Amino acid sequence: MKTTDLGKWHKLSAYQEKLEENNVRCHICPHNCLIHEGGTGICRARVNMEGILYSIAYGNPCSMGIDPIEKKPLFHFLPGERIFSLATAGCNFRCLNCQNWEISQSSPQKLEHYDLSPEDLVKNAIAHNTQLIAFTYTEPTVFYEYVYDTSQIAHEEGLRTVFISNGFINQQPLLDLCPYLDAANIDLKCFDDSIYRKLDGGRLQPVLDTLKILKEKGVWLEITNLLVPTYTDKPEMIEKMCAWLVENGFEDTPLHFSRFFPAYKLMDLPPTAESILIEAKNIAEKAGIKYVYIGNIPSLGNENTICPHCKKTIIERNCYLIGQVSIEDGKCGFCKEPIAGVWE
Ligand code: SF4
Repeated sequence: MKTTDLGKWHKLSAYQEKLEENNVRCHICPHNCLIHEGGTGICRARVNMEGILYSIAYGNPCSMGIDPIEKKPLFHFLPGERIFSLATAGCNFRCLNCQNWEISQSSPQKLEHYDLSPEDLVKNAIAHNTQLIAFTYTEPTVFYEYVYDTSQIAHEEGLRTVFISNGFINQQPLLDLCPYLDAANIDLKCFDDSIYRKLDGGRLQPVLDTLKILKEKGVWLEITNLLVPTYTDKPEMIEKMCAWLVENGFEDTPLHFSRFFPAYKLMDLPPTAESILIEAKNIAEKAGIKYVYIGNIPSLGNENTICPHCKKTIIERNCYLIGQVSIEDGKCGFCKEPIAGVWE
């Protein structure tokens, strides 16, 4: 591979370790890939060229759009706002149920993409009348340098940034990014390391560390747990997960249980049964988690925000549409109970 093959935009990775014989180790995510000269990491978004590691996702978004913030999902962060959303190709996971596998399981060199510097990306968001940018659809950890530079510029321009991630990132790059992040939704895929390896090609502990860091650093956090039949839908596993969340101070963190639909390599499984999603919600509430939602089944009506004290509906949602909002100064409009979130 030659420098010209890297494309117009590429960026030297700051988290690389030079090894003998022009090998490098990438330290962005816990795979810590050892990459031989001319090779790419597991994510397909970083290449070793002559012993130096480059991000080839930088400036190369393959997917962009404007979404309601509820779609991320973020329910306690600026409800009703529109958010400029983008992805590059590549991912550090191999989820059997990936819904975006055409872009996540590809390389920035293989997919058609826009040429967009971080500066122009922020200008684009502003031109579309949004004050928010989301790194989403694939895994933003693998286009870390693009996220970092864009987020810095976005903050200088008064915009806010959102990280929608599998949470599989090393601690140092995450700590370095936190000052430029405003909110995150982390997929906690399950609470069993062997299933994490089998279903996603990842590991549990680094994701738990990410949750703790984001919370400690004051990044607004919500968690999504997709219930995949036979893999992640066992009540005992959900109980363990919820107990860990409460023990570690996440009872105010909104938890979104999400319904699985057949996708990618799991086309033979049925969608998650409604009864299991309801059971999961009951388990979480019993454990002490205050804001629990069920996603992907609007007919169940579990997308409204209910005040944990007076039990009145304080935000009405129907799919991605917001109805009545009864929150004033961060408190329930009925009983004045503080409601965790970023409301303005
Ligand atoms: S970011 Fe990519 S290259 Fe780096 S360690 Fe993770 S999977 Fe490997």
